Amino acid sequence: MTKYFLGRPLNIACNNCKTPLQKDVPICPYCRVVRTDQYSRDELFDYLEEFFPTRLTHKKKPVSTAKRLKTRDFWEWYSFGIFTFGIGYYIYLLVTLKDMNDHWDYPHGSYETTTKNDLFTSFLLLLTTSFFGAIIIQYNRYQKLYTHILNAPRVGSLRVPLRGKSIFWLFVLQTILFLALVALIFFGISAFLAGMFFEFNSLWITLLFLIGSGLILVLYFLVHILIVIFEREWQSIFNDHIIWHMQLEAKNVSIFSPLAKDINYKKT
Ligand SMILES: [Zn+2]
Ligand SMILES: [Zn+2]
Repeated sequence: MTKYFLGRPLNIACNNCKTPLQKDVPICPYCRVVRTDQYSRDELFDYLEEFFPTRLTHKKKPVSTAKRLKTRDFWEWYSFGIFTFGIGYYIYLLVTLKDMNDHWDYPHGSYETTTKNDLFTSFLLLLTTSFFGAIIIQYNRYQKLYTHILNAPRVGSLRVPLRGKSIFWLFVLQTILFLALVALIFFGISAFLAGMFFEFNSLWITLLFLIGSGLILVLYFLVHILIVIFEREWQSIFNDHIIWHMQLEAKNVSIFSPLAKDINYKKT
């Protein structure tokens, strides 16, 4: 017995080939027969519009494969970041935002989500607010790549970066720990100096602050290592994705073709 909801059967199957369907769609993905018993002509055309657009309701994004996409070596940039006391890492963030913009110029389906970022705003944000701005930039980098990979044709096993909000909270935690560390060291030194000038035994207070900052330092490194693992993963997923885009170009395979999924995304 077929159950109905809003005029449509609940357990959906193709009326031609009888294959059960995961999604209620106007065309059977198995035998390609139009399900005229369930869908009107307009519904069918609305559905097709998504894959074969004819109306010019929204501007199509410009497509350009002029720029060669570059993969990045995460460890190279991470070391550069350490040797430049973090400034090099901000440059790395901006470089990857630019990479994401260049990547979006490559052919993509209308159902895919953008990876474009406003470079100038991001640059100003980093320049004026430093690590606070970096938290917002990280949110954008992760969330945009996350949704982009989820909507792209699936190549091999699915690997997605962390969601935007997860990396956001990890960075908030890292920032809080960093500020707490600076504050504790500052109070520890103040207590020590106060003890020298005002003739009271500040040894215990100083020691307390130093032990406190030691504990926070350990916590800080733990959170930092977690972030580094996710950052390396982000770059690795993005590298694979742009190699796949470039392979499609090199082999002249359309992103809409079923063959797109068979293109190897590893460097050959
Ligand atoms: Zn069918
Ligand atoms: Zn893409």
